[in-house]
Amino acid sequence: MRPDLSAMDTLPPSPGSTVAFEKTALDILIATLRQRGYTVVGPTVRDDAIVYDEIGGVTDLPIGYVDEQEAGTYRLRRWEKDTFFAYTVGPYAWKKFLYPPEERLWEVRRENGTLRFTEAPLPTEQYAFIGVRSCELAAIRIQDRIFTGGPYVDPRYQARRERLFILAVNCTRAGNTCFCASVGSGPQAEGPYDIALTELDEVFIAHVGSVLGGQILAEVPHRPATEEERAAAAERVQATARTMRRALDTTDLRDLLFNHQEHPHWEDVATRCLACTNCTLVCPTCFCFSVEDLTDLQGESAWRVRRWDSCFSQAFTYTAGRPARQSIASRYRQWLTHKLAGWVDQFGVLGCVGCGRCITWCPAQIDITEEVARLREQPPQTERSPS
Ligand code: SF4
Ligand code: SF4
Repeated sequence: MRPDLSAMDTLPPSPGSTVAFEKTALDILIATLRQRGYTVVGPTVRDDAIVYDEIGGVTDLPIGYVDEQEAGTYRLRRWEKDTFFAYTVGPYAWKKFLYPPEERLWEVRRENGTLRFTEAPLPTEQYAFIGVRSCELAAIRIQDRIFTGGPYVDPRYQARRERLFILAVNCTRAGNTCFCASVGSGPQAEGPYDIALTELDEVFIAHVGSVLGGQILAEVPHRPATEEERAAAAERVQATARTMRRALDTTDLRDLLFNHQEHPHWEDVATRCLACTNCTLVCPTCFCFSVEDLTDLQGESAWRVRRWDSCFSQAFTYTAGRPARQSIASRYRQWLTHKLAGWVDQFGVLGCVGCGRCITWCPAQIDITEEVARLREQPPQTERSPS
């Protein structure tokens, strides 16, 4: 017999505690966030894929869906269970909201013969993210460090990030392109989160990550999780790690990349890579951008926008009158070497969290785990071969 969820505690559950609630009560949690002024964003089905968009309640979630992913392949299908979070990550990363694909930075207007410059107002959005996976939390931690961790803070990212509420979800099913376990970023969610859920058949097991998370959970009928439920939740997450099919061997990875800078393997990848930029755009950690100045047709105002860009684009490498990386081989090498080697020197972590998006959404089926494995089989080469 299932425990009585109406016997709920009256005090908000404190950070570090673990409670259980009926899965349909997630609707109350979402409604509570909306009442508190949050724009609630979560997974939903659009164009035959799981995307992140504003949701109004649990009926907008992809209940009963699972995804099938392989290199260059994504399929969504229904299965026989009414699971809320059995799918894994889709093409969108949460960076779309914290660091939007395009945003205005400032504008200038002609007023009475003078030019008046105005900085774009800081964003006021207050997001609540529903269903953030462990790899995505790791990516948010990385982008926090990039945008707010050094002497130059991005105020636009910071403004959104400071107001963010995160409801994380521990993965109970691994996608075929996932490899988070091998890079230490999953499938168990680590902070920062306000609440982390693990989905069981009848209930969600909720770990409270913050005071605010406890206050939100206080609005939802709940009770302390039993020992059996905690053990079942832990086992589901461990089973996810055990069934992960891909892995990235991180042993001496930084040195491996730096020791193969002039290896002919990069030319081999270039025969397959289309330089389409998909891998960088879907990646939750990639942050390259360019700026562009635009004007109106009357010449009365102009403004500067920041747009996502990609190291795979030749124009992005334009320096001192010419593209610095003209070949696809040099651009693929730049991407992989920055992600897995230069990033470690710059930010102290790998630039890859093992989400597998770049594998799934590469039209040429190029697989970052396979390319690293192939480099491992090759002797080091740091000098260019005489031609
Ligand atoms: S590796 Fe794949 S996704 Fe990335 S630029 Fe090349 S073809 Fe596009
Ligand atoms: S490099 Fe690929 S697997 Fe790694 S975080 Fe980016 S998209 Fe995910």
